[in-house]
Amino acid sequence: MGLVVQKFGGTSVGSVERILNVAACVKDETERGNNVVVVVSAMGKSTDKLVGLAKEISNQPNKREMDMLLSTGEQVTIALLSMALNQQGLPAVSYTGWQAGIVTEPVHGNARISTIKTESIKNQLTEGKVVIVAGFQGITEDGEITTLGRGGSDTTAVALAAALKADKCDIYTDVTGVFTTDPRYVKEARKLLSVSYDEMLELANLGAGVLHPRAVEFAKNYQVRLEVRSSMEKIEGTVIEGEATMEQNLVVRGVAFEDDITKVTVLGLTNSLTSLSTIFTTLAQNHINVDIIIQSTTEGGTANLSFSIHTDDLLETLKVLEDNKAVLGYEQLDAENKLAKVSIVGSGMISNPGVAAKMFEVLASNGIQIKMVSTSEIKVSAVLEEKNMLKAVELLHRAFELGN
Ligand code: ASP
Ligand code: MG
Repeated sequence: MGLVVQKFGGTSVGSVERILNVAACVKDETERGNNVVVVVSAMGKSTDKLVGLAKEISNQPNKREMDMLLSTGEQVTIALLSMALNQQGLPAVSYTGWQAGIVTEPVHGNARISTIKTESIKNQLTEGKVVIVAGFQGITEDGEITTLGRGGSDTTAVALAAALKADKCDIYTDVTGVFTTDPRYVKEARKLLSVSYDEMLELANLGAGVLHPRAVEFAKNYQVRLEVRSSMEKIEGTVIEGEATMEQNLVVRGVAFEDDITKVTVLGLTNSLTSLSTIFTTLAQNHINVDIIIQSTTEGGTANLSFSIHTDDLLETLKVLEDNKAVLGYEQLDAENKLAKVSIVGSGMISNPGVAAKMFEVLASNGIQIKMVSTSEIKVSAVLEEKNMLKAVELLHRAFELGN
């Protein structure tokens, strides 16, 4: 008898009808002779609705109370799913994060899991029950409720699979798997049968919204076999594992994209060595995520610095830089928004020179200007104007022969 962790996202549990469908899916797995732990998200858009309620009361709601509020969403789903399973004669029990023993660091809104005390879950499994765990939530050593960040139920599922040494972790969602690019925008997008952890990590971090990036990190660290699949259609999904077993000789596996990016430029930095570290330390202290960084020196000996951020962080970034103008010692600030980042990903790039060159050539020959570039062993990202984003994605998808 094996152990399987199944995770169902918000859309998959969005109504009573859908919850009954999930119950059937859980039942199928038990009938294949497996023990099952189920992790669920809040129903439909209910987390967004809770966030909306809080925002009606305060612009910056208290973070502890925010966790208290948001953790209720998943609690609704676990109870309903447990009722549905028991109704069908399958013994089940629902657990909140703390009942499941999910202990996190003491951070509200974006806590990381530190340990999972699995005894209670194991006891219930031994008694032959299906255990249904609320995703996205945990508890600190001091007994405070925390949440793992938006989309965090994926991480709950993978962490439980790792802690329980499950045979696999199936992530059921509203798409049928991981695609070469977003099929809502590019018709030729094709489902991948397998991707490696590293490729998935890049794709997830680059804005392909199928999986929470931290879930992939966890899966990689603990070698959890993950599969992303549809909760509606009974077809095979995408397997995420150590090495992509199929199609492994393809150099580029996917094209990811993300809009709402702003490029900030700091001109005329006098003491570039110390001001560089001061700038990024100050931004980090203010929780501003900086992505691509470019520095150049001018003839006069001063330096210019450009970096990209999410447009939502622009006002805060400018404020931080202006407040620290005297310490940083620069002449002028400049910001260019309405930018987007388009990235190609594939582990075959490591051994294939010329991939970046081909990307730049494709974009240039179609009149698309590149504003910033960054690379890793398995990805190349280009920042360009938002209005060119989808065209760039389509061109690259075709140029690297990713379509049907
Ligand atoms: N319900 C939470 C959210 O909407 C967590 C999740 O669905 O993974 O972000
Ligand atoms: Mg999700």
